[in-house]
Amino acid sequence: MRAFTYQRAHTPAQAAVAVAGTPGARFIAGGTNLLDLMKLEIETPTLLIDVNALKLDTIEATSEGGLRIGALVRNTDLAADGRVRRDYAVLARALLAGASGQLRNKATTAGNLLQRTRCPYFYDTNQACNKRVPGSGCAAIGGFTRNHAIVGASALCIATHPSDMAVAMQLLDAQVETVSPDGTARVIRIADFYRLPETTPHIEHNLMPGELITSVTLPTPLGGQHFYRKVRDRTSYAFALVSVAAVIQPGNAGRIAVGGVAHRPWRVPAAEKALPQGAAAVTAQLLAGAATTPENRFKVTLVERTIASILGDARSGKEA
Ligand code: SF4
Repeated sequence: MRAFTYQRAHTPAQAAVAVAGTPGARFIAGGTNLLDLMKLEIETPTLLIDVNALKLDTIEATSEGGLRIGALVRNTDLAADGRVRRDYAVLARALLAGASGQLRNKATTAGNLLQRTRCPYFYDTNQACNKRVPGSGCAAIGGFTRNHAIVGASALCIATHPSDMAVAMQLLDAQVETVSPDGTARVIRIADFYRLPETTPHIEHNLMPGELITSVTLPTPLGGQHFYRKVRDRTSYAFALVSVAAVIQPGNAGRIAVGGVAHRPWRVPAAEKALPQGAAAVTAQLLAGAATTPENRFKVTLVERTIASILGDARSGKEA
């Protein structure tokens, strides 16, 4: 690990100014992803700004009938919150499907949104990776692609986003609240938060340099039956091959979002309109234009079967 300077911030604006003013500076809270990346020298920040003292660790009702989740609320606490369990069960289930209990105790809401891909070539510094070193190439293309994207990828990067929580946030139309180094606040719809790789796979979201996430808000509860189904190689502490978040209303109307298939949580309005027609129609819309390899084409079938399983359980009243 390379040497770095460590400072503790006391206000969000102070933290944002400190990171914006030092090239290579990073915020740190739980550190569950960043510290691993630093040990591997994939991330080499010269300055770490510790934001843990910023008092952004509460969950409050909003005047619109939703919830405001502080950026520093730990994943364990968010999953255990009674309001989340009752009104946003898909989010609680997605959180509990992620990582391990120990990691959820440290990982924060903002950090979970910002975690980096688990593409194995990204973590192997002997391999070419446009995300790690822009312009160096992509060893995954033509390599082993079982866990890689089948939609929304580019000729420069085929990585997937690893977060379970972000899939549920996408489904719920969450909004990300931030503060910039000049003190201004802004709200970013989660649908506009993540970027596809296109020609800049090293830029993964639309935050500006130094812009700090302060909270994530959820709109009023959707009602309906909530599902988060994660299919993976092990039953715990593994990333999704495919995950499906769904809120199903009477008559099979509802919402659906998928993880493990793209550079960001994947949601397609036409697929939601197709819900009453069943899993095959939904999958056809969700994964239209999918570009698969022999190693990952199973994901198309897996998405369809996972959606079919959810719709079957919704009909028989088995929410999970
Ligand atoms: Fe890097 Fe993306 Fe290629 Fe993986 S898929 S090696 S993250 S450029």
